[in-house]
Amino acid sequence: MTKPQEIEFHVGHYGDRTGARGIIDEVQYARKFIKRIYDICVSNCVPATYYEDKISKNQTQNINNLIAHHNQDRNGFIVSGHLNASGSVTDQGIGAEVLYYDQVTVAQKVVDAICNASGMKNRGAKKRTDLGVLVKTYEPAILIEFGFVTSKKDVELMDQHFEAICQAIAKVLAAHIGYTIKMEVGNVDKPIVEAKVMLNDAKSIPAIIQDGRTYVQVRELADLLNLKLIYNNESKITKLYQ
Ligand SMILES: [Zn+2]
Repeated sequence: MTKPQEIEFHVGHYGDRTGARGIIDEVQYARKFIKRIYDICVSNCVPATYYEDKISKNQTQNINNLIAHHNQDRNGFIVSGHLNASGSVTDQGIGAEVLYYDQVTVAQKVVDAICNASGMKNRGAKKRTDLGVLVKTYEPAILIEFGFVTSKKDVELMDQHFEAICQAIAKVLAAHIGYTIKMEVGNVDKPIVEAKVMLNDAKSIPAIIQDGRTYVQVRELADLLNLKLIYNNESKITKLYQ
């Protein structure tokens, strides 16, 4: 097998509420993750495709459809996005794992990337010989289980570190097919928006909003509020006096 030339992403199952359900819906989260990782790849010129099964009516059709989709060509590396479930809802973290048939090295790298980026428990790379998308596809494949839909801690970590997880996985996958992702965590999807902070609907100072936070210069804010400002460069402490 020659080296894969593109990453072929797909979302597991065949629509919302067709996978595991717990605190969250598996398919909704898998879609969110896979879409974002795909977008990071594309915006870094890493060849990638994205697929979601919207036609199947049951899990058997879904697996056959996914296999048929990927077997149209033989130049890719398949990445299937899923979340795991345990019997009942728990507060405890359970963790991420990556399933593989013959791709142990990259599977291990992906699960390590997820766990280093998020603090999720590392359940490791696990060999599976019973999964159609891993076994019946010509192209090499891994199946990512991002976390457990039944673990409050997993959901918390996935939410909190969503972007870092996606960036970390994209980096590993890009490297696997010979590309480099240059963007750092925090630089993407966080545009700067110009804004204003106003005092008593009269005076105002310029502000910017980034990542849901409004930033102003302390000096301008002090002037606006008529406060005396003393800044100590050594201690990095800004003192304000009324
Ligand atoms: Zn699944």
